[in-house]
Amino acid sequence: MNTRFFSIKIAVVGSGPAGFYTTQRLLKNQDIRVDIFEKLPVPFGLVRYGVAPDHQEVKNVINSFTAVANHDRVNFYGNVSLGEAIKVDDLLEAYHAVVLCYGSAQDKLLNIDGELTTKNTISARNFVGWYNGVPEDKDLEIDLNCDTACIIGQGNVALDCARILSKPTNLEKTDITSYAQQMIANSEIKKIYIIGRRGPIQVSFATKELRELMHLNDSRIKIEPSTMFEDYGLSLAQLKSLSRQRRRLVELILNLHAVSKKNLDHSPECILKFMSKPHKIVANRDTGWVERLELQRTRYDNADEFINEKSVPIDTNEFEKIDCGLVIRSIGYKATMVDKSLPFDTKLGAIMNTRGRIHGYRSLYCSGWLATGASGVIAGTLQSSQVTAQSILEDIQNKQLPSLAVDKSGYETIREIVKAKSIQVVHFNDWLQIDLLERRLGETMGKPREKFVDVDKMLDVAREKIKHDQK
Ligand code: FAD
Ligand code: NAP
Repeated sequence: MNTRFFSIKIAVVGSGPAGFYTTQRLLKNQDIRVDIFEKLPVPFGLVRYGVAPDHQEVKNVINSFTAVANHDRVNFYGNVSLGEAIKVDDLLEAYHAVVLCYGSAQDKLLNIDGELTTKNTISARNFVGWYNGVPEDKDLEIDLNCDTACIIGQGNVALDCARILSKPTNLEKTDITSYAQQMIANSEIKKIYIIGRRGPIQVSFATKELRELMHLNDSRIKIEPSTMFEDYGLSLAQLKSLSRQRRRLVELILNLHAVSKKNLDHSPECILKFMSKPHKIVANRDTGWVERLELQRTRYDNADEFINEKSVPIDTNEFEKIDCGLVIRSIGYKATMVDKSLPFDTKLGAIMNTRGRIHGYRSLYCSGWLATGASGVIAGTLQSSQVTAQSILEDIQNKQLPSLAVDKSGYETIREIVKAKSIQVVHFNDWLQIDLLERRLGETMGKPREKFVDVDKMLDVAREKIKHDQK
């Protein structure tokens, strides 16, 4: 018999897909109330700040997240950062359970010379944040007045960066920030290298994204070295051992080789460069800006290795130089450590957990990229969130949550903590006002929205809304 006479209070940290999907699933238990805490004044994580502006349809998930936020058993508290405004222990004290969904807010490093010291060598995370209006990336020092850009890494983020630099049609009609759109429209980049340390069988990007780049570039996209398959004595027939999906992708890459002869001048030429490991980034001595990327060639010992998706090549003694004026490092994201006591898998860049249960803790869980590492699309995050929410629901059902013995104060305690630190909390209604004003501004410019890129501006709008409501 259920003798509990109070509701189960759960704190969710992070309002990206993982935060919302986890909350949505938890609400299935009618006793549960969820408070969502978000570092920024605005919700939706990488849906707002990662997904490319020319992929507006992907952002439709925001509608279902909004429905979750508007649920009467859910509260949203924006501008409250875990690790700064509040601590994990504060939340564990105030809530019956806590779910960390704060994603992967750092980028991985190459650890090569010049990576962090050479100007116009930036991470894809910052570049994406710049064009998508992440407040801390809005002033990114970037110059697109150069002939050649090198993107290191061959994942979907690398292709996003290459596509945006290739000036897709109607970019100005998307929610890209105006300052980025204007700089991209005036960019002088004519050549974009997308560089992989492995071969075409091992790329991380997907067929759909490659097709998009091909169509955009009127087939001005080619592969290097173009003789790779011949070098390993391979033919298309030998791709049979691959999965159908991977075979289709590799065939597409090979076809790039066949169709890359067109010489149109609309957008930059893209070159998928394989078997090349970044070795050094060299700056101009006088200006400090990047002028060269040095690569070390890699190779497989034999055709079987070349054709195996998991193979890792060995280094050769051959080096190559690409003169370039921009380097974008797109080699993946990793989570930040907001609390040193959390068990962290540094290799994966994620918190150690089993089905969302954080190792060494009771009543502390995680989901999304923080739980799985920074890989997978929004649908994958949905899955991870459902697994975690299911673990919590089971732990409640099986009386595995000792915290449930007593009532918890929930937001009442947190309110005092943030008030003492003079933090202005942004509620979901305040966000709706920011949203409205962004969309209105966008309308005057023929785009879905023009994002506010200053936290202070967002907070001003929220403050005005509160004043107005109090009148
Ligand atoms: P996030 O979306 O990163 O959400 C984490 C949230 O936590 C953020 O709101 C963040 O502000 C907040 N947060 C961070 N630190 C704190 C803190 N200390 N305290 C409180 N809150 C905090 N998938 C697709 O399906 N389609 C696409 O087109 C697509 N494009 C992508 C483009 C890029 C550039 C990237 C990087 C990813 C893309 N993805 C895409 C993948 C998709 O974005 C992820 O699968 C998904 O966003 C992961 O969700 P998450 O909630 O785990 O993390
Ligand atoms: P990713 O898919 O993991 O790709 C990272 C790339 O960087 C790989 O090519 C990897 O090569 C390379 N790399 C890693 N370390 C390297 C090093 N030290 N030196 C050289 N190269 C290195 O990461 P991502 O592109 O950041 O994408 C993250 C996730 O978001 C992915 O799951 C992606 O599908 C998703 N996403 C989806 C979309 C979409 O659906 N449209 C858009 C953007 C992102 P190796 O394989 O050799 O390690």
